[in-house]
Amino acid sequence: MPESNAPVSPSLTQDLLAGKRRALARAITLIESTHPNHRAQAEALLTEVLPHTGRSIRLGISGVPGVGKSSFIETFGAQLIEEGHKIAVLAIDPSSRRTGGSILGDKTRMEELARNPDAFIRPSPTGGSLGGVARRTREAMLVCEAAGFDVVIVETVGVGQSETAVADMVDLFLLLLLPSGGDELQGIKKGVVEIADLVVVNKADGDMTEAAARAAAEYQSALRMLRPLSAAWQVPVLRCSALTGAGIAEVWQAVGRYQDALGEDGLARRRAEQARAWLWSEIDDTLLACFRRHPAVSEALPALERAVMAGEVTPGLAAERLLTAFGVETQR
Ligand code: GDP
Repeated sequence: MPESNAPVSPSLTQDLLAGKRRALARAITLIESTHPNHRAQAEALLTEVLPHTGRSIRLGISGVPGVGKSSFIETFGAQLIEEGHKIAVLAIDPSSRRTGGSILGDKTRMEELARNPDAFIRPSPTGGSLGGVARRTREAMLVCEAAGFDVVIVETVGVGQSETAVADMVDLFLLLLLPSGGDELQGIKKGVVEIADLVVVNKADGDMTEAAARAAAEYQSALRMLRPLSAAWQVPVLRCSALTGAGIAEVWQAVGRYQDALGEDGLARRRAEQARAWLWSEIDDTLLACFRRHPAVSEALPALERAVMAGEVTPGLAAERLLTAFGVETQR
């Protein structure tokens, strides 16, 4: 086990469990590090704090750039903190290359919330595959919970498959929409509306109030046509203004109704399924990385790839040869 050769400093665990922000920031830095020793320490830390995780509501928030995600989280977060909650905001942005990530890269984003002692905001880990970014975000979510944050928000910037990755790690996936009709007009990718547990039309204010009402009605009737994700829950379409705060309290009420509708058992089942899927994606990723790194595989790969592309060898046979080189007996 990695724990034995890479002990975590006991004070880090203690400080984390005591809710100290510096310890939380350090824990996440360990989680995000690709250094093997840090990786082992992160695993050991996660194992230690695992019994203290899970006591939060995990919310995913998505929507096209400009829909108002950061404004929404800022207003929503402030209201929740007023009610006594502690909010952690994590981001998934696999395209992010900027050091410091995307959330705080732009100083105007969630400025107020970032200053609040009951909020913890962490930009997306930079670089790497979506799988790698998603894993680090899941782990960051666990340490936020161990540090006593009872509302964890995972924001996605809506690039590639990141919405699905986020939906697969949260209790409730909230999709923010603009007050204009039609997925195509809004640049929403196919299938994203289908995975939402809650749909909210933002910017329902000023001269966009009526358009927002129309858009909400359109989405509500479109959603009725879809097979519900859960028999216990009909996805509602709400309206809000992150600017004025109107409708924000109703969004939180809907989160509560969702929790009631699924019940503790329903949410526990969802989390258990997510944990199982996470296990398999870890296995997939690790196996694939080992396979690509294997000397006999990497030696044979370029020629076999060329042969497959030239139509000289079937992909099936090439895969079989590579797997044999890797030391796996294929049974086909
Ligand atoms: P993000 O890219 O999804 O995070 O969107 P932002 O939160 O950065 O918001 C994009 C723009 O929309 C900014 O200029 C915001 O001030 C504006 N905005 C966000 N929410 C609202 C809202 O509820 N009403 C109005 N009128 N503007 C908003």
